[in-house]
Amino acid sequence: MADEPELRAEARVAMRDPGAMLERLCTHFAGHGTVTRHDGRARLEGRFGAAELCLADGALDIAVTSPSETHLFVVTSSVAEHLHAFAEGEPLRVSWRGSLPDQPGIPYFREAVVRRAHDVTPAMRRVVLACEDTAHFESGGLHVSVLIPPPGREPVWPGAGTDNRVIWPSGADELVRRVYTIRSIDPLRRELAIDVVLHDTSPGSSWARNARAGDRVGLLGPGGGDVVPADWYLLCGDETALPAIARIAAGLPAEVRAEIVIEVANRAEQQELPSQAAIEITWLHRGDAPAGTTDLLPRAVMGVAPPEGGNPFVFASCERAAARAIRKHLREAWKLPKDRHLVAAYWRRGHADSHDHGE
Ligand SMILES: Cc1cc2nc3c(=O)[nH]c(=O)nc-3n(C[C@H](O)[C@H](O)[C@H](O)COP(=O)(O)OP(=O)(O)OC[C@H]3O[C@@H](n4cnc5c(N)ncnc54)[C@H](O)[C@@H]3O)c2cc1C
Repeated sequence: MADEPELRAEARVAMRDPGAMLERLCTHFAGHGTVTRHDGRARLEGRFGAAELCLADGALDIAVTSPSETHLFVVTSSVAEHLHAFAEGEPLRVSWRGSLPDQPGIPYFREAVVRRAHDVTPAMRRVVLACEDTAHFESGGLHVSVLIPPPGREPVWPGAGTDNRVIWPSGADELVRRVYTIRSIDPLRRELAIDVVLHDTSPGSSWARNARAGDRVGLLGPGGGDVVPADWYLLCGDETALPAIARIAAGLPAEVRAEIVIEVANRAEQQELPSQAAIEITWLHRGDAPAGTTDLLPRAVMGVAPPEGGNPFVFASCERAAARAIRKHLREAWKLPKDRHLVAAYWRRGHADSHDHGE
């Protein structure tokens, strides 16, 4: 981030007790990034930028720096959210000045329209979306939040307040929000493909099952952790990670090696995974066991011997319990540093819309 040009936004926010607010922000943020304190000042640094906080007379001065307009929006929006959450009912006015977009709205929102949908396997349906700005999704992460409007209603999309907080439609206009991977991007046709597991009559599965040409959705993103350059990869996960693994494998250069381990229900759920890299694929079949109830994936990872030396990277995404077991093994047995693996819970058995973004 150090080499990137920095964009900056500032605000002076008047409040009764700026010292208490500074404390609360630092305590909360310590669990999410790096906090540096000096007298009445603090610097909070995270993935998307930094916020400098400075006590003033009856106010907190805030200066946010980020490498892009999108990140600057994310950080200013988050700072505003936290200020209001910690204000304990005191009305605050947060008014940002600086390098913010001229266009109102959320800079990482795009509308897309279903062009077609078909089954890739019995339990995986591909929804192809037409989107004017596919270039926006080429970098910055593999995943998007798909915003699904209520059936039969004109969609009302989220917007941004003057303090950059996101304003979500509510009541009859409330959107369903689910995270999916962009499986592939076709810039010439201006299409994005999303592969959805048909596991239930849940909102995400039902959207994919019933998707018809012309249906509109909102997309927030892209986001998610990045797979970093390596000379050997272990890519593993269940069927929810199959789209991500397929996209990562398709982007690997010829000189690297990758072991791929994927759990699916049975042979009919296997897919071709084209790649220039030297890949070796192991398919694990859980048969009649419900998804998220086996330890097939952690056991398979425990059976993999990491290469000695070199530059390995592990990507693993699946149900939360398996993700936790895999993360523990990589850290304790492999002693793999944090920047050499990305392990994420893509879903949690028994919980709707539940995931973490990986670490
Ligand atoms: C970064 C990221 C990328 C993802 N990419 C994809 C992707 O490309 N394709 C994809 O299909 N999913 C993907 N997922 C997972 C997907 O977001 C979740 O499975 C989500 O819960 C599905 O929403 P739903 O409305 O179908 O079910 P929900 O309403 O969220 O859940 C309803 C019930 O179904 C269970 N459930 C959820 N998912 C599954 C499942 N796969 N199998 C069995 N039971 C389940 C829940 O535990 C809950 O009990 C991704 C998740 C993340 C975080």
